[in-house]
Amino acid sequence: MAKVLYIDFERCIGCRACMLGCEECSGHDHLSRMFVDELNPGETVATSPTPCMHCVQPACAESCPVQAIQVTEDGAVLSASHEKCIACKNCTYACPFGIPRVDEQRKIMYKCDLCYDRTSKGRPPMCVSVCPTDTIQFLDEAEAKAKLDKQVQFKWDFGGTVIETRTVIGIPDLQTHRYGYNEVTEDVL
Ligand code: SF4
Ligand code: SF4
Repeated sequence: MAKVLYIDFERCIGCRACMLGCEECSGHDHLSRMFVDELNPGETVATSPTPCMHCVQPACAESCPVQAIQVTEDGAVLSASHEKCIACKNCTYACPFGIPRVDEQRKIMYKCDLCYDRTSKGRPPMCVSVCPTDTIQFLDEAEAKAKLDKQVQFKWDFGGTVIETRTVIGIPDLQTHRYGYNEVTEDVL
């Protein structure tokens, strides 16, 4: 069964260990594929890691004119092939989550590839290994999508276009609204 990233916003303490672990991972050329975002600046100090969402139908791969972005059989959306990428940034503009970046010096796109060198051998991604609070977990896809202890989201409505992702997000506590989220639309859950 495929394993996926599960992100629990409420556990993140903003330490950025995931970014540092990603930077230091072999083959990442000291460029983190993981980002840590402030969720509601000015209102809270809440932060959350933002990896690739590993879309079921990835817009990045579909928009690449030279088929530089491979999707593995188990659904990981890989970083651009060095041989093929022409650094046109189509993938950057197409991604609804703003994930692919282009290394301007080396003229190549880079993004989270689910540490496929590790995960294809059954090891967790580096960000999961180094996160001290279990904010990022590596779970069976079905297990992540059926989390019993909190609501999860893996379908995202972009103005009527619904995108399904393999990365699954645990929704913050809706009672306190402390992350600035006031409602979750039933039909995208
Ligand atoms: S930047 Fe590279 S991976 Fe992205 S669309 Fe262009 S050729 Fe494809
Ligand atoms: S989140 Fe963006 S980069 Fe990741 S698979 Fe989806 S479209 Fe591609």
